[in-house]
Amino acid sequence: QMAHQAERQGWHLYLVGGAVRDVLLADSSAELALTDIDLVVDGFYQAAQVGAGVSLAQGIKHSHPEVDLQVYGRFQTAALVWHRDGDSSLASLMIDIATARTEFYPYPAANPEVEASSIRQDLYRRDFTINAMAIRLTQPGAGLLLDFFGGWVDLHHRCVRVLHANSFIEDPTRIYRAVRFAVRLAFQIDPQTEGFIHHALDSGIYTQMQQQVAKVPALQTRLKNELKYILEAAYWQPALGLLDKLGALKCLHSQLAMSERLWHQLRRVSRWIQRFDFEHHLVPWQMRLEVLLAELPKSERSRVAKNLQLPQPTIDRLAHLDHLESDWRQTLPACQTPSQIVQQLRRHDLATLLLVSARHPRPLGQIIWRYLTHWAEVRPPLNGHDLKQLGYRPGPRYRQILAALLAATLDGHIQSR
Ligand code: ATP
Repeated sequence: QMAHQAERQGWHLYLVGGAVRDVLLADSSAELALTDIDLVVDGFYQAAQVGAGVSLAQGIKHSHPEVDLQVYGRFQTAALVWHRDGDSSLASLMIDIATARTEFYPYPAANPEVEASSIRQDLYRRDFTINAMAIRLTQPGAGLLLDFFGGWVDLHHRCVRVLHANSFIEDPTRIYRAVRFAVRLAFQIDPQTEGFIHHALDSGIYTQMQQQVAKVPALQTRLKNELKYILEAAYWQPALGLLDKLGALKCLHSQLAMSERLWHQLRRVSRWIQRFDFEHHLVPWQMRLEVLLAELPKSERSRVAKNLQLPQPTIDRLAHLDHLESDWRQTLPACQTPSQIVQQLRRHDLATLLLVSARHPRPLGQIIWRYLTHWAEVRPPLNGHDLKQLGYRPGPRYRQILAALLAATLDGHIQSR
């Protein structure tokens, strides 16, 4: 429908970006489920008017009122979202429709300015040759592959290659994208492209990123999104290894680098999340990121977390971690009874317990393990309801009696429920 509508207006409609890459990579015998589709509208004889993409999206909304339509004014982009079984939190298909454009970067690492232009220039502003191809969906020439930069050959050589030497200076988050695609698709980063990565990192782009947080918050959002994709993926370990090998963890903080100890901490926190997060409250990628940021000098941790726009509990946890760890290192091993340990730990959430355990397997991790696997489950033989039935009147004494009962149960003086 959209293609017909575009043809009637004298526009071409193109499938672009990752969907083209995935279609060309797909095994022809396997089914390919595209859930995230990018389309670009371009004029037939001249550039399509700004807003052409939005007007096509509005046409779809008109004939499919159940679809969600969002318009991002400044970039003249529209998004159509089909929800799964009427559940507004689950998107089953998302189509972004943009008008072909050129982007100007007013200064490195900035968000682009936009103006209407042609499909070739639109593709030229993309990250890698494998993501810079388009398939025409409109007549004449529907099905035509537009490949101006050698994406097809790179797909066959399994190679991630940028389109120009300044690509990583313009947008350092592309370093993270290069790693993500290389690891996910089992591709190699082209040696010259790797040279551009080193050049960008050596030029101090990461320092610039850290200093420009206030000026370019969008850059930090993109960096956070790339980190999220990497740290939540099944391939997070090889991806993190490659980022470290390239020296790209410097984009987060100039002193951040992987070590054997940090790898152990990350693997430990991942195992403990699986073991203890029964209600799935924790966000594994965020926990892994917390472990990484906890490796920074203590005065820097929460600042970097804030720059990355991580949630407030994460920022607070990192801000108080040092104080809590020194406190626990002194007090927990000195506890004489389980009830004393429970009294200290029960005030803290699972994320805090896991973070500290991952960083200090002995003795803190051992104590916390015992707490989580055993003591946290212990219940006294009587509860508030029983006390009421025994004739006690509800009041502040209740809490004291129940606490004393719990302590006596934990310490083995009475049998648990
Ligand atoms: P995925 O399958 O992981 O979603 P994708 O290629 O669709 O991969 P998106 O992040 O959805 O990745 O981006 C869509 C397209 O937008 C990319 O294929 C690429 O052409 C372009 N793009 C995205 N981010 C950048 C960037 N930082 N610099 C240049 N082009 C980008």
